[in-house]
Amino acid sequence: MHDAIWFPFMLVLTAPAVGSFLGVLVDRLPRREDIVRLRSRCRSCGTVLDVKDLVPLVSYIILRGRCRHCHSSIPAQSFHVELLALGAAVLAIIAGGSAAEMGVTALWLWLLITLTACDLIWFRLPNAPTAVLALVSLAMATLPGGPGLQQAVIGALIGAGSFALLAWGYHKLRGRVGLGQGDVKLMVGLGAFAGPFDVPLLVLVAALLALLFALLTRRQSGGLGPMRALPFGAALCISAGLLWIVRAGDVLSLPLR
Ligand SMILES: [Zn+2]
Repeated sequence: MHDAIWFPFMLVLTAPAVGSFLGVLVDRLPRREDIVRLRSRCRSCGTVLDVKDLVPLVSYIILRGRCRHCHSSIPAQSFHVELLALGAAVLAIIAGGSAAEMGVTALWLWLLITLTACDLIWFRLPNAPTAVLALVSLAMATLPGGPGLQQAVIGALIGAGSFALLAWGYHKLRGRVGLGQGDVKLMVGLGAFAGPFDVPLLVLVAALLALLFALLTRRQSGGLGPMRALPFGAALCISAGLLWIVRAGDVLSLPLR
C-alpha cells in the first residue's frame, strides 16, 4: 500500500535538482574542490553561471549544451546524471513501499549513479559518497522485507574482506596495484546490499560488464593489455543496480504468482 501521493510527487519533482547536485559532486569531489561555497562557473571562460543557466535538464537543452558566454561545449555528464537521477526516483516509486522506503531506495540509487560517474570519468571513487552508500545499504537491510542488519554486516565483511585480500595478493604477486582501495571500500556498501549469498553473483556480473567495456573501448584505448585501467567500481555499481532491479521485480511479481 502506497503512502500519500504527495511523497512520490515530491520525489519526482525534486529528483532533477538532486541530479544537478550529484553532477556537482561528480565534477568537484574527484578534483577536491569545495562543493558548497564555490559558485558554478563555466570551465572554459570562468563566467559565474546565472540561475537560468542552472535549471536542471532544461538549461542544457535550451543552451544546446553550450556556454551562453563563450559558446564552448558543456560536458554532457551533468545532463546525463540529472536524467538518471530522475529515472532512479521513478524506479524507487515503482518498487513501492512506504515514503521512507522510497526515499532510502532513491538515495541509494542516486549514490550508485554518483560513484559510477566518478569512476567512469575520473577513475576515482571519492570517500564521502562511498561511506554514505555503506550507511544507506545497512539502513536498507533493516527495512521491511530486507535481509536484516546481521546479514548485511556479514555481506559487507565478505565483500570488502575478499577484495582487500585480492588487492593485497595481487600487489604481492605483481608488485603493483591491480585493485584500488576505492573498490575495497565500495564493497562495504555493495556487500551489505547484496548479502553473503549474492556477493559472488554481484562480482561475477561486474567482471562481465568490465570485460564488455574493455572490448567495446579497446580501439580508443590501445588494446587489452594488462596495464589497461578499467573502471571496475562503476561495473560493481551497475551490477548492484541490476541486482536491485531483479529483486524489486521479484517483489512486484509476487502477487501475480
Ligand atoms: Zn563559457
